[in-house]
Amino acid sequence: MYNHHSIFSKQEDRCNECDEKSIKECCNKCGEGLCLRESCCQIFPHYNRELYILCNECVTIIEQKLRPTTVDKCDLRLLKQKISKRMEAKVKKLEEVSERVREQKQDNHKSKSNSNN
Ligand SMILES: [Zn+2]
Ligand SMILES: [Zn+2]
Repeated sequence: MYNHHSIFSKQEDRCNECDEKSIKECCNKCGEGLCLRESCCQIFPHYNRELYILCNECVTIIEQKLRPTTVDKCDLRLLKQKISKRMEAKVKKLEEVSERVREQKQDNHKSKSNSNN
């Protein structure tokens, strides 16, 4: 059974979301420790192979961006925009690369069959 009565157990190196696994990374927004399980956080690909990590709480906050009277509403919207732009750029790059590979393969095939003639 779990021992829930110790307030300080949370202060140990436990994931802020599940309070179960040990901390591997911190949320890039609020800085809370996360175990990096999918159920605890969202990981976005970042440039330079870095990862942008958001805890569930911050993801929820960003998803509730339509909440009025939030002062940092713009900031959150910007953040989400930034993330999706980065995702888009990354996807685009991948598509470009696979396109190029495909073209190269076709070219190789062509020149090979030509030289066989
Ligand atoms: Zn966790
Ligand atoms: Zn967070």
